[in-house]
Amino acid sequence: MNAFHTRRDFFGWSRGLLAAAGLASQTASLNAEPAPRPSVDEGEDYYDKLGVTKIINAAGTYTMFTASIMPPAVQAAVARAAKSPVRLAELQTKAGEYLAKRLRCEGAVVTAGAASALTLGTAACMTVANKSAPHDMPTDVAGHRNEVLVQKTHRYGYDHALRNCGIRFVEVETLADYEAAFNDRTLLAHFFNAAEHGQISREDWIRVAHKHGVPCFNDAAADVPPISNLWNYTQMGFDLVTFSGGKGIRGPQNAGLLLGRKDLIAAAVINNNPHDDCVGRGMKVAKEQIVGMVAAVDWFLSQTDEGMQAEFQRRADRITAHLKDVPTVTSQTFVPPVANQVPHLVIRYDQQRIRISPLDVAEQLRRDTPSIELNPATGRNEGSTGLPSDAGTIVVGVWMLEPGEDMIVARRLREVLTKAAAA
Ligand SMILES: *Cc1c(COP(=O)(O)O)cnc(C)c1O
Repeated sequence: MNAFHTRRDFFGWSRGLLAAAGLASQTASLNAEPAPRPSVDEGEDYYDKLGVTKIINAAGTYTMFTASIMPPAVQAAVARAAKSPVRLAELQTKAGEYLAKRLRCEGAVVTAGAASALTLGTAACMTVANKSAPHDMPTDVAGHRNEVLVQKTHRYGYDHALRNCGIRFVEVETLADYEAAFNDRTLLAHFFNAAEHGQISREDWIRVAHKHGVPCFNDAAADVPPISNLWNYTQMGFDLVTFSGGKGIRGPQNAGLLLGRKDLIAAAVINNNPHDDCVGRGMKVAKEQIVGMVAAVDWFLSQTDEGMQAEFQRRADRITAHLKDVPTVTSQTFVPPVANQVPHLVIRYDQQRIRISPLDVAEQLRRDTPSIELNPATGRNEGSTGLPSDAGTIVVGVWMLEPGEDMIVARRLREVLTKAAAA
């Protein structure tokens, strides 16, 4: 759907721009058409009412930028689900059964994001290994099986989601370390799918753990597309796999998928709301978002990898073409190897000729109206997993742009760079 697909949307947009420039009252009199009022169906614009700035997301599926926009069919399913109360447990169960079938795994549950799935999955393993676990976690687990094996290079900020269950990490580096690390306290073997380093392969990780009867968890939160990853890792043998709902799948931001072994998914459900005395009580996913997650999976499975990649490449190419004759500018599209595996546009230029740093370009685009957020790897060595960036690069994440926004980004980049070239 085009962002400017109706006159109303177009006028809504241009009024927003002009209002910001203090010109709204002037144009109101020039505009022959009466100002459109929001219909009841559209609802009131609470971003405007609250004074919250809407942004153009040229970054990617970042949590701080509210990740993704649900496709229109998903938005409609969410709005419709809001109209009827249901029994929460029944919705959770039936949504899970439907997802398991579509995603070719034994069991599934919609969680409040991938981080919540990490907690619920760990809680599930604790519950299968120790009967009183739902009540005991996280403070009363002394004496429980609670060691989680992990490669040293797979430690990350989301560790906290597992630690919420009272576990203790045990780090390994080599395959020999790993084989020697199993004991009667070992609960789980955790794997970070997009880790850039690590000596132990997925296959070895699973093989050795299963020899000891220990389940394996793979955090693949940001690792679609390709679409087939939604079943690749469970079929490879991981007992639990999580994906974020609000990233590439474009579901609600506070939803996610926990997929895997039937008994573990059942144990995850015991640790989830509507039950009270468990770690998952504060991880409620409302009926609207459960439905939104299921609808987003339906939408995502109706896409093709080729179709999505071609669309993202076309956006990158349009921006490249628009910057073609700006002095010294070169660009390249780059597809990160695991997480966010879609074309990103990486732009370089000679800062002797164009006298502005990429970080300052990002700041100018941020301050402008409409406000644009470039990929946070812009002007930095460290930003996004697997992206080749440094102090001299601008990175445009094109995949979360709404139709037409690629050219807004292209024009603003061209203006800022051209101005700095003349200075
Ligand atoms: C984004 C991400 C998460 C958290 O996902 P949410 O759905 O925001 O909870 C967890 N792990 C990894 C590797 C991620 O990239």
